[in-house]
Amino acid sequence: APSQRHTSKQRFLAEFSQCLYEFVIQLLPTREELIVKEDVRKLLERLIRTIEPESRLLSFGSTANGFSLRNSDMDLCCLIDSEERLSASDLVTMLGDLLERETKFHVKPLPHARIPIVKLSLDPSPGLPYGIACDIGFENRLALENTRLLMCYALIDPPRVRTMVLFLKVWCKRRKINSPYKGTLSSYGYVLLVIFFLVHVKNPPVLPNLQQMPPMRPISQEETTLHGHNIWFFDDIELLRGRWQSSNTESVAELLVDFFRFYARDFQYNTGVASIRAGLLKKDSKGWASESDRGTARERNRLCIEDPFEVDFNVSRCVTRDGLYTIRGELMRASRILASRPERAIVALAQLCE
Ligand code: ATP
Ligand code: MG
Repeated sequence: APSQRHTSKQRFLAEFSQCLYEFVIQLLPTREELIVKEDVRKLLERLIRTIEPESRLLSFGSTANGFSLRNSDMDLCCLIDSEERLSASDLVTMLGDLLERETKFHVKPLPHARIPIVKLSLDPSPGLPYGIACDIGFENRLALENTRLLMCYALIDPPRVRTMVLFLKVWCKRRKINSPYKGTLSSYGYVLLVIFFLVHVKNPPVLPNLQQMPPMRPISQEETTLHGHNIWFFDDIELLRGRWQSSNTESVAELLVDFFRFYARDFQYNTGVASIRAGLLKKDSKGWASESDRGTARERNRLCIEDPFEVDFNVSRCVTRDGLYTIRGELMRASRILASRPERAIVALAQLCE
């Protein structure tokens, strides 16, 4: 009977929400891990200051945005406040030498990469069973800002936003569709897809659009421009709580089911651009669909996710035709598993992350 179907569906969703919370909690970094990472950051900062006394070493990416899983990599960014400073590639070379001499890290300087970085790793030890992997870059101020933007979105509704994002991060790693080098999508890309969904697809929205909210005081253009990009967003989340509340009451399970259905079935991959800043855009209107350079633009723009600040930058430009085919296949698989509503929610969760 319809009413019985209805209740079995409700029961599945309630149980699945509970499973998601419990699953995600045990994947969070431990306190010890956070302490070790902060110690490593301080140690590295001290060493860098022997080369550049005016420098600061800041965390970005998942360690700083609230979407970190146990044993995730550390992304660090070195900011130098003095006027005369070495070039990023010289710094990478010098820092590489210094760390090689002074620490136990395995060091790999990449001074000639598009964004010069030093890659570090530490072997597993009893106190650190998974070791540490860390990238140090220089002057990547936009990355610090987009980290802060994602952190603010996480803070607005931690139970739903963080649970969804963390689950999807595990899911895409287990399903092996989280390798930009192999033609699939970065974690950053998946997080943007979740926020796009919660801001622009869900109706009523689960999250407000922080980049379009009016500022509380007049703000000069100078304050909000970084390398020619508008980086303003509403970042006073305490204040926001008093002014904005989502009228969407769906559970995290309902949202996740709908997320998979939307990206498996409804998102217009051929023509659409997911922009958390401006909503659904067209590839055409951004010049991301042109065939002019013998199809290369098209190949780079199979999947289009606009960076929140660098709006000419497609975050998912690494996703190849095959990569997108695989990702969409996985989204359909996930959607199918959830639509079949196994007897026990825990079974659905296990199947999803197989
Ligand atoms: P993980 O826990 O899997 O490392 P993460 O949240 O750290 O996930 P990453 O994909 O490692 O996400 O990205 C870290 C940061 O690097 C992002 O917050 C962003 O600032 C920057 N970044 C990563 N990929 C891109 C990209 N394709 N375009 C622009 N910035 C990126
Ligand atoms: Mg990272």
